Order: sequence, then C-alpha cells, then structure tokens
Amino acid sequence: MIPRLKPYYNHRELIAALSFFRNDSVREYQHKFAELFNTKTALAFSYGRSALYTIFKALEFENKEIIVPAYTCVVVANAIVISGNIPRFVDISLDDYNMNLDLLAAKINKNTAAVVATHLFGYPLNTDKLKDIVSSAEKRLGHKIWIIQDCAHSFGTRWNGKLVCKQGDVAIYGLNISKMISSIFGGMLTTDDDRLAKKIRLYQDQKFTKSSVIKTIKRLLYLISIRIAFQNNIYRIVNFLEEETSIIKSLTNYYQEDKIDLPYDFLENMLEIEARVGIEQLKKYSKIIDLRHRIAQYYSKNLSGLNGIILPPIIEGSTYSHYVPRVNDRQKLLLKMRKQGIQLGWLIEYSIPEMKAFRQWKEGEFINSRICSKTTINLPNWPGMKKKNLEKISSGINLYYK
Ligand SMILES: *Cc1c(COP(=O)(O)O)cnc(C)c1O
Repeated sequence: MIPRLKPYYNHRELIAALSFFRNDSVREYQHKFAELFNTKTALAFSYGRSALYTIFKALEFENKEIIVPAYTCVVVANAIVISGNIPRFVDISLDDYNMNLDLLAAKINKNTAAVVATHLFGYPLNTDKLKDIVSSAEKRLGHKIWIIQDCAHSFGTRWNGKLVCKQGDVAIYGLNISKMISSIFGGMLTTDDDRLAKKIRLYQDQKFTKSSVIKTIKRLLYLISIRIAFQNNIYRIVNFLEEETSIIKSLTNYYQEDKIDLPYDFLENMLEIEARVGIEQLKKYSKIIDLRHRIAQYYSKNLSGLNGIILPPIIEGSTYSHYVPRVNDRQKLLLKMRKQGIQLGWLIEYSIPEMKAFRQWKEGEFINSRICSKTTINLPNWPGMKKKNLEKISSGINLYYK
C-alpha cells in the first residue's frame, strides 16, 4: 500500500528521541530554525495554532476582526475564535488555492487587526501585492494591521525570490507528521520584530505550562508506532482499519464540523523530545524540498493532457507540501486507486464558512472555496517515494481517465 503521506524519519530521529541526556534542545531547535529561515527569532510551541493564539493574546486583540482565507486548515479559524476574536473570510483563487487578493481590500475595516496570509500547499501568495493592499488600508484607516504569514505548508517558500515567512510581521509553522518537516508534534513562530518577540515570550512565561513526563513517554511511543505503521505490509492493515473501523479516524481527526476547540495541551511548552527530533529534521530540510520539487514535476509531466483532472500549477518558489489536482468524481477515484494499493489523500475537504461551527460568520458566497472543498484530492508526494511507486500512481490515473 502506498500511503497518502509519510514523515521523512529514519533511525536518526529515533536515536535523537532517545537521547534523554541531552538538554536545552528546545532552545537549540529555535536557534537553528531561525538560522535556516533567516529570521532573528524563532519560538517553539506545542502546535502551530498555539503560536497563532499567542500572537493574538500577546498583542491584546479582543473582538477584533482577523482576515483569513475561506479555504485553509480549520485550526487557524479555531484559534481566532478561541482567542476571543472574529474570523473574516476571503474566497480563494483557483489558480493557486490562495486568498484572492482582489477581494481583500473590501474586507478590511476599522476593526481589522490582522491578515493571516496562507501559502497553501506550498504555493506563494503574491506578498508584494499583499503588503501594498495592507499598507494603503493602514493609511486610509489610521491604524496598524498585522500581517501574519501562515507558513505551515510553506516553510521556505519564496515569492519573487524572497522568503514569504519574512514578508510580514510574524510567521507560524506546523510541525506534526503531515507537515514538511516534523518534530512529532509542535509548532513554531518566527519574527524579526524584537518588541513582538518580547511580548510573545512574556505571554509564554505567564501562561504556558510544562508538560508531564507521561506526555514525553506518549510522544516516544507515538514516534515508534509511526515507524511501525508505515512499514509496507503493516500499512495495509493500518489502511484497512482506517477505512473499515473508526479506530484510526478517532486518532487522526483534528476537528469537528460543529465545534470550535483547541487541544487540551495547546498552552503547554514544546517538549525536549520533540525539539530533538525537530533538530534532526532541519538537517534534511533542503533534501526534502528538492525531492518534493521532483515529484511535482514528475506528476505534471506524466499526468498532463488528461480529461477530467485539473492539475495544480508548477510555480517558481513553491515547496509543494501537497500535490493537489481537482477532479469531479473524487470518491470514485479514491476507491478505484485504493483497490490498486494507492491511498490518495483528501485534505482540505471543507470550506470553513460553510461549516456548522462557522456559519454565523459567513458573509457572502465563497464559490471557489466550495469548489475546492468538493473536488481537491492529494496525490502522494512524500519525499523518499520510490520511482516505481510514482510510475504506479501515474499509470493508474492515466488509465482511469483514458
Ligand atoms: C497544520 C496547519 C496549521 C497549524 O496546525 P497545528 O496542527 O496547530 O500545528 C496552520 N495552518 C495550516 C494551513 C495548516 O495546514
């Protein structure tokens, strides 16, 4: 079974996880992360959404409007609401799945405190245009509007040669096993703004707690079970359990359609064990991106010209955290491929303003977001995938659409 995703872990991460004699790893991880992405400060969290929540709290936003794309990971909107603020949605563009910047200016008003700019699936948003729109709104309204770069899919993504994580006030990253690089779980924040960094640290010192030893043991067991679950033969069983029972679903489910919440431990500090694994992953970052580039190019070349499948673009500066075509018969394709031993992914399968929990903030229509929620599908594009598997996926899809 070819899994829909697979973290790029080997024995090095396991050894790092077991190196309990090492200390100060969180600090080291932050330092190395900042260095790799050329920012002054990096601060670690238990989740990416914790970093976002902390930005809002540290800046004392209350009942403020935070602009966010309608088609993004729902945990972003959850963090906005739980922090006591109001999500304002903007529809996306079908060209690159990102916020349609032509719709942005009209959403900004005197109560707008921030724009969360996401670079979905690794595709860079036009950050030059974004900054122009925000700065003319600031002049018009006379107050600061923070630009938060959501780089959960786009760690080193560049627009016009410039790192998108630096094209704003602050950036956040997710580090669970489905992300580009991973520290088992975890999140990160980067900024060049010393005053903001100071406020964030202060909030962390006051509100964040240390995790229990049990959580460290749980993370270690999780890391070991991932190693086992992704073995070729075992993964077939995992997939069976995923499809036929609710066991795996209850483990991997990260949201509820009708409920806004954050995990119980979202205000806990990153664990040392997570940081140790994260440090190993940073060393592999450029290799991971290189492999993802090659896979995207392979698919684009070998799936072009088929009727019924719209391929995602190849864009300079993208990091291809996902490879996401649109199809009209998603469920049928999923089943057919699964029979051939190929697991396709189905992220992101909702449009946030249409979700029960968020309908009260829905204003207007979000047509493209809705289209994507029903038609996007992820082809496996994890680094380390064998050529043979790529060929199998592409010939399976070619046959399906012939
Ligand atoms: C994963 C993700 C995040 C952060 O997720 P956490 O699970 O909180 O670490 C933020 N934005 C997007 C677009 C994501 O995919």
